[in-house]
Amino acid sequence: MRIGTPKEIKNHEYRVGLTPAGVRELSAHGHEVFIETRAGLGIGIDDEAYVRAGAKIVDSAEALFETAEMIIKVKEPQPQECAMLREHHLLFTYLHLAPDPEQTEALIASGCTAIAYETVTDARGGLPLLAPMSEVAGRMSIQAGAHAMEKAAGGNGVLMGGVPGVPAAEVVVIGGGVVGYNAARIAVGMGAHVTILDRSLPRLNWLDTTFDGRLATLYSTVDAVEYSIAKADLVIGAVLVPGAAAPKLVTREMLKLMAPGTVIVDVAIDQGGCFETSKPTTHQAPTYLVDGIVHYCVANMPGGVARTSTFALTNATMPFAIALANKGYRQALIDDPHLREGLNVHKGRVTYKAVADVLGYDW
Ligand code: NAD
Repeated sequence: MRIGTPKEIKNHEYRVGLTPAGVRELSAHGHEVFIETRAGLGIGIDDEAYVRAGAKIVDSAEALFETAEMIIKVKEPQPQECAMLREHHLLFTYLHLAPDPEQTEALIASGCTAIAYETVTDARGGLPLLAPMSEVAGRMSIQAGAHAMEKAAGGNGVLMGGVPGVPAAEVVVIGGGVVGYNAARIAVGMGAHVTILDRSLPRLNWLDTTFDGRLATLYSTVDAVEYSIAKADLVIGAVLVPGAAAPKLVTREMLKLMAPGTVIVDVAIDQGGCFETSKPTTHQAPTYLVDGIVHYCVANMPGGVARTSTFALTNATMPFAIALANKGYRQALIDDPHLREGLNVHKGRVTYKAVADVLGYDW
């Protein structure tokens, strides 16, 4: 199969859909791989590295879309990319169609087959192509929070790990899923006192066993949230209720319980945020203050560490990309019901129920 990866064109997107290692794997399976010139430059991968791995470099997105049968990307196609999609194209990328009727219409009009990373499932009910970005955001939340705790950033001037004779920071993580676990791992590693709240008892049980006494677990109630944020230096918002907006677990009123300079990092901001006072921010201007509380609410945290995120994402997408290329999408989707869950648009129809329901398409 002819496989192509264009340079991402969304504002400040430096990730890339295929690495040289991925090119080498696909080439070894007998496929031809095309990469748009400078596609990896933002994360330090030059065209020569792709050529050494077996790719052919094409000098424009137009040429790439014309040549490739399967297109592997990171972000949802932008309008000018949608205009280049045709019926014979297989698109494999993040789509996030539910809040995006224009893109959905454009994909329908193109007649292409579009498989969305975010709806591919695994045998344990997880989302294997979303999880790597949650791992990145969880780990990064502590790094971002530690920085925001410094005085110059508006924080309370507490050092995450303390020093001998001076207590470490109190870190509260609300939501103990993929983001929460990874945040807790880094905070514990830095020597902070960590409390993690969740409303799933099996999950709290797993966290308790996994961390073996190195953090405290709390069942998430309004009481527990109020009690823990009152003593926190850093609060991480990491809840997810699948298919719904994030619940507002910390109200504006509750901010009064917290000391000025306390930092909140609302990772759940991409689902609306779990603090009432959260609004999306960017890597250029990541924080703002409400009642003396520092809010960090960057909606695309993994984009800030685009190099790590690219390798994390492509590690996860590669087996699916190989299956699609080796078998063709029909057989690959027949053979793997989890990959089939990723099919969102096919030959002019929305084929993912939740998207069809939200956007009012026939099902
Ligand atoms: P997950 O499903 O693995 O974990 C969510 C956890 O929240 C679950 O353990 C669930 O039991 C818990 N939860 C639900 N309601 C709760 C409540 N009321 N109190 C306490 N816990 C509650 O999800 P995840 O992969 O960890 O993602 C968490 C959030 O981070 C999502 O909104 C996701 O979209 C977001 N995210 C944001 C970025 C970013 O760049 N900002 C990046 C990756 C993920």
